[in-house]
Amino acid sequence: MLAEELVLKQRTKILHALCSSGSAEHLERVLDILLAQGALIWEDYQNIQVPGRTLYTNARQLLDLVYTKGVDTCGLFLHALKLVLPEAQAVGLSFSESCSNLEENDECQSTSNQTLLAQRPSLVHKLQGCVDGVLEALLDSGHFSSADCDEVRLPIYTPTQQARRLLDHVRSRGDLAASVLLQYIHQKQEPGLPLNQRELTPPKEFLTYQKKLSSSVSAQSCFLSTYGGTSHMSLDDIYTDGELELAEVNAHGPLGLEDIVGLAGIVNEEADTVLVSGEAGSGKSTLLQRLHLLWARALALQDFLLLFPFSCRRLNSEHNELSVQELLFQHCCWPDRNQEEIFQFILDRPHQILFTFDGLDELKQSFTDDHRVCCPTQRAPVHVLLFNLIQGSLMKGVQKVVTSRSEAVSPLLKKHLRKEVVLKGFSPAGIDCFVRKHHRDPTVAAKVLESMQANTALLGLCHSPVLCWIVSQCHKELLGCGEGSPKTITDVYLMILQHFLQHQSLLKSTMGLGWLQEHLKTVLLLGQLAFEGIRSTCYIFSGTDLEACSVTEKDICMVFLIKSKDMSSTHSKCYEFSHVTLQCFFAALFIVLSSNTNRSVIPKLFELENMRETGLTRVCFGACLPSSDQQQQASEKESKAAETPNLQITAMFVSGLLSQRHQNLWLHCCPSAAVEKKARQVAKCLSKGMQKHFRSIPQPVQGEKKSMHAMPDFVWLIKCLYEMQESQIAKDAMSKLEVDHLKLTYCNIGPVECTALAYVLQHLRNPVGLQLDNNSVGDVGVEQLLPCMHICNSLYLRNNNITDEGIHKLIAKVIQCDSFQKIALFNNKLTDACMQDFSYLLKTKQVFISLRLGNNNITAEGAKQLAEGLKANQTLAYLGLWGNRIGDAGTEALASSLEKSNSLVWLSLVGNGVGSAGACALANLIRKNTSLQELWLTENCITRMGVEGLIQALKHNTYVTSVWLRNNDLSLEDAEEMKQLESRLIF
Ligand code: ADP
Repeated sequence: MLAEELVLKQRTKILHALCSSGSAEHLERVLDILLAQGALIWEDYQNIQVPGRTLYTNARQLLDLVYTKGVDTCGLFLHALKLVLPEAQAVGLSFSESCSNLEENDECQSTSNQTLLAQRPSLVHKLQGCVDGVLEALLDSGHFSSADCDEVRLPIYTPTQQARRLLDHVRSRGDLAASVLLQYIHQKQEPGLPLNQRELTPPKEFLTYQKKLSSSVSAQSCFLSTYGGTSHMSLDDIYTDGELELAEVNAHGPLGLEDIVGLAGIVNEEADTVLVSGEAGSGKSTLLQRLHLLWARALALQDFLLLFPFSCRRLNSEHNELSVQELLFQHCCWPDRNQEEIFQFILDRPHQILFTFDGLDELKQSFTDDHRVCCPTQRAPVHVLLFNLIQGSLMKGVQKVVTSRSEAVSPLLKKHLRKEVVLKGFSPAGIDCFVRKHHRDPTVAAKVLESMQANTALLGLCHSPVLCWIVSQCHKELLGCGEGSPKTITDVYLMILQHFLQHQSLLKSTMGLGWLQEHLKTVLLLGQLAFEGIRSTCYIFSGTDLEACSVTEKDICMVFLIKSKDMSSTHSKCYEFSHVTLQCFFAALFIVLSSNTNRSVIPKLFELENMRETGLTRVCFGACLPSSDQQQQASEKESKAAETPNLQITAMFVSGLLSQRHQNLWLHCCPSAAVEKKARQVAKCLSKGMQKHFRSIPQPVQGEKKSMHAMPDFVWLIKCLYEMQESQIAKDAMSKLEVDHLKLTYCNIGPVECTALAYVLQHLRNPVGLQLDNNSVGDVGVEQLLPCMHICNSLYLRNNNITDEGIHKLIAKVIQCDSFQKIALFNNKLTDACMQDFSYLLKTKQVFISLRLGNNNITAEGAKQLAEGLKANQTLAYLGLWGNRIGDAGTEALASSLEKSNSLVWLSLVGNGVGSAGACALANLIRKNTSLQELWLTENCITRMGVEGLIQALKHNTYVTSVWLRNNDLSLEDAEEMKQLESRLIF
């Protein structure tokens, strides 16, 4: 196809690819290239980039202009587009094959202004980090006023936009101004030695520093800090790969550790920050630790000369304003000599430096991008430095890896991300591998695994590494507990509490008291410390903080608190809970056990209100809270976002601890009446919370189904209900939900959440459609969902990592469920091996309506098996197989089995390698079938002959309304001709 036609035909797609991110960067890069190539002249550029106009309007203007300039310009435009668009955004676009050369014009231009144009793309790049220097030079030479400089530096511009505005301004000031800029860049590139020669030889001092940093990183990361703080466990012995996935592009296979900083899945080329997100305890810190260790041992990330690891938890206690230089050297590793030279070397090679920031969600301040710092020697509060590093206004080009809990990531932060990688925890094989590493004795390992597998709710929990660790650690309790084996997350944490408390008392007499009663004092003291910490976003406690809560050495020996590692060694002896979830658990214990807490604590906790105003006087955490009231207010507002996930986890534990099942535990620890009252409060809060969600459901438009799209807090409330394990409360809460369709897409639903969902949803009164697309349900999650299948009439599980194994179990269940009618499994990991199951489903269930299996791995073999089921089915109306590999043979089998169907109205075989033989088989189907209305055959390899067959068949069929044939093996002329013959064909 000619370039002009491609531009015209793909206009909507191109516009979307250029503008849908909301950033003007792609459009501006295309313009840079076209200017450099001379495909656009300066006046064209000004007509396109009209200030104040929307991005879409500018892009449309460019498309119009390019089209009117003819085939060559269109070719150049398509090439520029191909170069600029990230892979994900270019999907579905075709670029012209004509080979335009987009290299920059190196010929000598007669004027400096011409050079600015001809080298615009590389100048934009080279200006990164030296816009300020050029502005100064222009100010000195009198070409720019300070107002000009301010205009270029406007904080609304990204660094590349600043570079472009600078180039635009310089152009308007004439050739001399342009030569000042070019001269500056030239000097910057070549002070003394040629650039490439300097790159090869880092100074000696630098190499000494590199060695020091790497041995300190190695020392810090070789042991895992876990609850067994007492026993050092080497990371090499225990590290097990977790499952990593790209948040945005799903087409990519499994990711390895190095892919985190690799090229896969980049959504914003301009950004330097990669986010690793995941639930609390999914292993984010451990993953960074592993990366650090591999780098220090020269086993990975060898493109980076230096790696600077930071913990946001520890950065919270830095109260001084610092420059980036001070931040690096004071918090990571101090150079013994030549600080300045080493820092200059870092500035010169941003692309060879890596920073990691663990636990952004634990930072007291929420991410903002309104305070700009651009100079690496300028001092600022540490969180301001961190936010500027993340945005790239500081140390542009240095790669940054940041970890955070998913729910704490704001849309504002997302704007500055190069990509997001989600850490999903352990796969089933990962759990197996972890337990075997944890227990050296293979018989013990086998027993632990066996008892985990016998309890599917527990197995679901073990996908979270932190819970897997606890369960495996407490294997003795686990093996001994039979009937009462843990089911909920609270059960698992109670198990670890009991494990360590009893471990402690082996040394002393147990005095015949209950284990909790015996250690009540310690539990309350640690509980208060945890509770106060959660209220003030404090995770590191100084000696004074401990004293204020009367926590003694003896309590510290309990391993729940571990010594805080602090590289800067400015803080003597600090402590933290061995995991943030454990801090939440202790805070919850305090809420349940203490008679001192205010009555409003529970309602406030469930409304996720700022807990700081509640009853208890603030007793400690001098180090964590600023002194003046004004500062305090500001800090409270900022830290609220960071607190929410921890408040949610705490509330979940409170629900679990107040469950009837655990009432015996509290018998001799606090008055029963008080506990019962708190339990009633929780039940009321949960019911109120649910109703608030139900009230937000809009009334359906007439003729449409009533649908509820769950808000993020909905899943949390469901989890709280599960922790309570009181079916009457769950039943009461659910009896008020009256919807036809429940949508829980993109809600981070894994196996743990599936267990809770099934527990609660089984109490619904009427069948619903359950839409769980784009989560990480997996096979284990599918199994957890089975108990609520009787209440589902349709199940949507698109993009959920499900394999044939999960399908096998699912189908065995749903064939017994009367109302089950639809299933959508687009983009999972299904193969021919589960087609037998679907075939059986079709044969057995004569109410089944819709089967969508797009983007899986089904071949002709699978299609043949499915065809067997189709022959015997009289109800299926929709069959979607888009993006598989069924080919001609598969199509023939399907077509012949559907000839007699009088229910099928919609069939999609898009992108299946169907050729003309397949088309002929479909022509036969069209001849004989009287129900089919839409046939989708886009993106196949059907030739003219195949289409002619379809046209003949359509002459005998009045039921079919459209046959989609775009992107097949047909020329434009053929398509035009065929369309004239049969208007129902769509090309
Ligand atoms: P997060 O930072 O996501 O809250 P952590 O990295 O602190 O989670 O993990 C919590 C605990 O889970 C660790 O202390 C360790 O016991 C266990 N763990 C996490 N990831 C792994 C892993 N990849 N291999 C082995 N154990 C792990």
